[in-house]
Amino acid sequence: MADNTLDDMEVIPINCDMCGKETNLYKTDVEGSVLSLCNGCSKFGKVIATVRVEPKRVKKKEIKLPQPKEEETILSIVSDYGNRIKNKREKIGIDQEEFAKKINEKKALIHKIETGHFEPPIDLARKIEKFLHINLIEMQEIKPEKIDHKKGDSFTIGDFIKVRKR
Ligand SMILES: [Zn+2]
Repeated sequence: MADNTLDDMEVIPINCDMCGKETNLYKTDVEGSVLSLCNGCSKFGKVIATVRVEPKRVKKKEIKLPQPKEEETILSIVSDYGNRIKNKREKIGIDQEEFAKKINEKKALIHKIETGHFEPPIDLARKIEKFLHINLIEMQEIKPEKIDHKKGDSFTIGDFIKVRKR
């Protein structure tokens, strides 16, 4: 989204107090009275400041953040992702290093994932799903107020799902 594009503004026309020309104006002190004058007319007095054509903001400030829906569907990683990956990888008969190479990731990362120490982000999970032909991502409908109960890093979405299924 472009910020403050002219499309979203309504320009208030300002005309020169002396000749009526619609242009950039200068606040000009002409013998004690301050006038908004164009470049040409401002020569008759002493320029104090530039008068900016004040753009009237029409709607930019009215934009509200999307309201949280009552129920939201989120994608989450299954809680036993580590086992699922490890089991399938072993079934295929490749080691962590080979697997890492195949999906263009580091072996250390694969190790962390398989041992459940690193929950793969959705895009990585998709890549693994595709390669191993397993399912790692599930859809969850979650009420926003329940998400708020999530505290810190110790309580992951995975934990939440476990709680919910109980
Ligand atoms: Zn003028």
